[in-house]
Amino acid sequence: MPCVFCGGSPVTKEHVFPQWLNQYLPPGPQRTEQARYGAGAFDVTRQSVGLDFTVRKVCAPCNSGWMSELEGSSKEALEPRIIRQDLDLISLRQQRKIALWATKTAMMADQVQLEPLLPSHQLRRMRTHQAIPGGTRVWLGSCPERNPTVTSQTVRIDLSGVSRERRDTART
Ligand SMILES: [Zn+2]
Repeated sequence: MPCVFCGGSPVTKEHVFPQWLNQYLPPGPQRTEQARYGAGAFDVTRQSVGLDFTVRKVCAPCNSGWMSELEGSSKEALEPRIIRQDLDLISLRQQRKIALWATKTAMMADQVQLEPLLPSHQLRRMRTHQAIPGGTRVWLGSCPERNPTVTSQTVRIDLSGVSRERRDTART
């Protein structure tokens, strides 16, 4: 299977969530819940240590190149918010970094699905132009619930066949 971002091969195992986040989770095993969609869909609950989602769909040059750079630069914007959890003004530049990181991470989480929802051209434009697909919304929040630590769910909202007017209403 070729790399979903550039079409290269071979692909290597990549963590959906960066491992540096694990230091902020409770120690020891946690419960991970994951809902997979597509033909043969299933829900799975399992024990994990940290954010243990991996996917084998990215090549080494992407993984250690642009993705690694994006991880490094967004960590600077994310980590202070994780540590302090205070209300804070975030500069436009940092908002863009966080949104880019969240979108890339959501794209990776989508690849865990049996039938990923996002079209491949959007993943390729993420690599070549750091482009966030139109209509994407990214929210940041804090969650005091820690069990399960990790929940991955994908929701498909099919707007095809819906009139333009109703579609815009559905998005607001
Ligand atoms: Zn690649």
